[in-house]
Amino acid sequence: MLRIAVQKSGRLYDHSIQLLKECGIEINNGNRQLKAVAFNFPVEIYFLRDDDIPQYVYDGVADLGFVGENVVYEKNKAVDTLARLGFGRCRLSIAVPKTMNYREVGDLSNLKIATSYTYLLQKFLEQKNIPAEIHEISGSVEIAPGIGLADAICDLVSSGSTLFTNGLKEVEVILESEAVLIAHRSLAEEKKELLQRLLMRIEAVKAARHNKYIMLNAPNDQLQNIAAVLPGMKSPTIVPLAEKGWSSVQSVVKENDFWEIIEKLKSYGAEGILVVPIEKMIL
Ligand code: ATP
Ligand code: ZN
Repeated sequence: MLRIAVQKSGRLYDHSIQLLKECGIEINNGNRQLKAVAFNFPVEIYFLRDDDIPQYVYDGVADLGFVGENVVYEKNKAVDTLARLGFGRCRLSIAVPKTMNYREVGDLSNLKIATSYTYLLQKFLEQKNIPAEIHEISGSVEIAPGIGLADAICDLVSSGSTLFTNGLKEVEVILESEAVLIAHRSLAEEKKELLQRLLMRIEAVKAARHNKYIMLNAPNDQLQNIAAVLPGMKSPTIVPLAEKGWSSVQSVVKENDFWEIIEKLKSYGAEGILVVPIEKMIL
């Protein structure tokens, strides 16, 4: 049985449960217990505060954890990071009042900076050789300058709208973060086997999210050009259509290259282009 720690409520909860579900691991956590056993995979889920997850995994109370890299680095526990999970993206940044005339990192000298990330902030300040005072607070960091508790803050940012509404501006990025899968360093053989199965599923879900399945009709005299822009997993599937001189082409494209590929395909005379999401992709 693998024991996986996930955040019990908060920004990572829904995405964590969704990822497990897409990996074929369903749990019934209707009344929000501390523990839940999955129906269809030998997995037990522990619901914890995200700050505690690195410690639990380090101690071996949980075998695996889904948690933000920001927390992994801040807690600085010896655990293995095995996969990036593609959600919970944010950055740990320093922000100062909008009205401050900030030019460079040296301008932080002798300021009082409020944060709950004391370890990472201290490391950053030491690296840059900046003498500043760190004021530890555990929540609502963004209001600290407004109430005169600090001159600046160091906190997580995603869109920046919270900073904006509190009259702050982001001036330094300390860390870019997303949710990751962490593991205890010495897992029993039987757990390692389950972990490999889980990792294969996570990779399949992630790959599927970044790719689309594409189907189109192409004139036969353009097939070579079209095949060249659609590499697919091995090569595109090409099947003759009932109408003479035409074929159906099917392939997989990366979401990032998507529009560029569509434009090329159209210029080669492709018609009836259909694009559909892929649920799982096993390479
Ligand atoms: P807990 O009660 O579990 O300690 P929390 O208040 O620390 O919850 P949340 O605000 O739910 O945590 O954030 C959990 C994680 O979500 C963060 O550690 C970070 O990895 C990620 N995250 C993504 N975007 C943001 C953001 N804009 N602000 C804060 N966290 C974010
Ligand atoms: Zn937390």
